[in-house]
Amino acid sequence: MQSGIYPLPTEVIHLIAAGEVIDSLAAAVRELVENSLDAGATRITVSVWAEQWRLQVADNGLGMDCQNLKQAASPHSTSKIRDRQDLWNITSLGFRGEALHSLAQLAQLQIASCPLPFSSDADLGQEREGWQVTYDTQGLPVEMAPVAIAPGTIVTVDHLFASLPTRRQGLPSFAHQLKAVQATIHHIALCHPQVTWQVQQGDRGWFTLFSGKTARQILPQLLREVEVSDLQEVEQVAGCGFQVSGKREEEKGERNLELKIFPAEMLRVGKASPKNLQNSKFKIQNFTPSLYLLLGLPDRCHRRRPDWVSVAVNGRLVHLPEIEQTILAAFRRTLPRDRYPVCFVHLQVPPAQIDWNRHPAKSEIYLHHLDDWREQIAAVIDQALRLNPNSLPETLYSDRIGHLLKTAETGGGWNTSQPSKEIEGDQDEFLASSPHPLASTLKALAQVHNTYILAEHSTGIWMIEQHIAHERVLYEQLCDRWQIVPLETPIILNGLTNVQVEQLQRIEIDVEPFGEQSWVARSAPALLAARSDCADALTELSLGGDLQTAQVATACRSAIRNGTVLSLSAMQTLLTQWQQTRNPRTCPHGRPICLTLEESSLSRFFRRHWVIGKSHGI
Ligand code: ADP
Ligand code: MG
Repeated sequence: MQSGIYPLPTEVIHLIAAGEVIDSLAAAVRELVENSLDAGATRITVSVWAEQWRLQVADNGLGMDCQNLKQAASPHSTSKIRDRQDLWNITSLGFRGEALHSLAQLAQLQIASCPLPFSSDADLGQEREGWQVTYDTQGLPVEMAPVAIAPGTIVTVDHLFASLPTRRQGLPSFAHQLKAVQATIHHIALCHPQVTWQVQQGDRGWFTLFSGKTARQILPQLLREVEVSDLQEVEQVAGCGFQVSGKREEEKGERNLELKIFPAEMLRVGKASPKNLQNSKFKIQNFTPSLYLLLGLPDRCHRRRPDWVSVAVNGRLVHLPEIEQTILAAFRRTLPRDRYPVCFVHLQVPPAQIDWNRHPAKSEIYLHHLDDWREQIAAVIDQALRLNPNSLPETLYSDRIGHLLKTAETGGGWNTSQPSKEIEGDQDEFLASSPHPLASTLKALAQVHNTYILAEHSTGIWMIEQHIAHERVLYEQLCDRWQIVPLETPIILNGLTNVQVEQLQRIEIDVEPFGEQSWVARSAPALLAARSDCADALTELSLGGDLQTAQVATACRSAIRNGTVLSLSAMQTLLTQWQQTRNPRTCPHGRPICLTLEESSLSRFFRRHWVIGKSHGI
């Protein structure tokens, strides 16, 4: 950010997507809060008196001195950019110098501010003064007085839209407007987790948001039904249009990335070299493109509407439908029908790759390398949805868990001995394929009620429902390879409608008329071909849906039924295969597959921290 507030040159004003920035209470809050964030505030208090059309935003940011306060509400005056070049290097939320001027025109505007002392001031023992300024409708100061306030800024907007009664009438009810204010603050808070928010309706407290290290600590404060443990986060350096070089150092568990970033245009002309980096023609930004992902684990949270599928770029939530589509696609077949994921993606993009001047509210942008970003986002979500082998512990057996399990109840439905009746040959063979290195991380212990596989993991105890775990395995295999095989004995299907026949043909099954009202199927999906209920399965597939629906139906029909007795080795193989799936948390219908009981919860439950007399237990 530049120091001092100055009017922008006319040529720059013409390049900016001008428009009415302040069209509602929420928009006024957004503009003021963004100014606070640009001033580096970590504590922001917002007070709204909706019925009086009054609001106040107070922050502990950098503040303004008397000279800048006088200039702050003049038209097109900003401290954030200076010239046309700067439009391609926007690192602040604001840059148009419009908001305070618009507010001065639309309301009574008063700003009190006191600049943060410089260290040199303290050395000199100098106090920095606070000033309060009232502006006229042209944004010029009409009243100025010294004021005793802590460093930071308090902006008060009163009688908003008083001069535009039709504007007021056109706005929704106060309740709706307050909801919009809340949503605005929620969205901004998610993008700026370092800030503590206190929000009031008039003089009454409304809500508070505590700061956190990342958005993972913020989201549960916004969505009460979501807990921190329901959320998974990933942060990584991205490489969109940039060549990232340098060395990776692992030091005391901390990752230091030394990056050399070449501007995209330089890469395009093939001139990316350290020598050229010194060439002034190419402006180098000291900026690391990165991607932050926060997602609700699909077995724990999802929503009725896609209202928390959110994308932010450089600190602001934006509408990027292409990326929203990528997110929804990445969650396909992991959630129940008509449910949507909770997913927040925050991109840090080199300023030169964004054009904010697509929409006055900056909610729509032009983003370079969109396809690269989409690819990276899909890959990161994919990674976050897996059971990550790197996060799985290396040693299988923890003595503490072994001890706990030995003391666990063994009677009732717990089937810890070898099952008496094994599952049918075919399935056992299918499940008894070669073990994978990951197998050792999750150890099948027993089958419970012939439905659940009880497994031991070094983090605790896991219970996996056998049917849907197998369904997930089969479904992903079918997606990777939809194989139609000829039937040894063709199957006669009676009473199919033309639509059903077309549906079968669409999913590549060979069906022909065979007399009146009868058809003969000469091929079937490989998994179904040998089944005794293949005719029923084909009829089910003929009932509609796309290829994916057919794959789900086939997987569901072929998966081991609950109630089937499994051998320990069959269970172990299933667990191994299931752990390697892309979306192990839910079945293709969205049902959760696994219940985990963390060792730490067990320890808490059994009060293992109590020391009563001499303890022999631990
Ligand atoms: P913009 O944010 O686009 O620069 P604004 O009209 O919102 O334009 O603000 C004008 C200028 O006033 C800003 O560039 C900034 O220097 C100063 N300013 C506004 N609000 C604050 C604040 N809360 N703390 C410090 N400076 C502020
Ligand atoms: Mg602003």
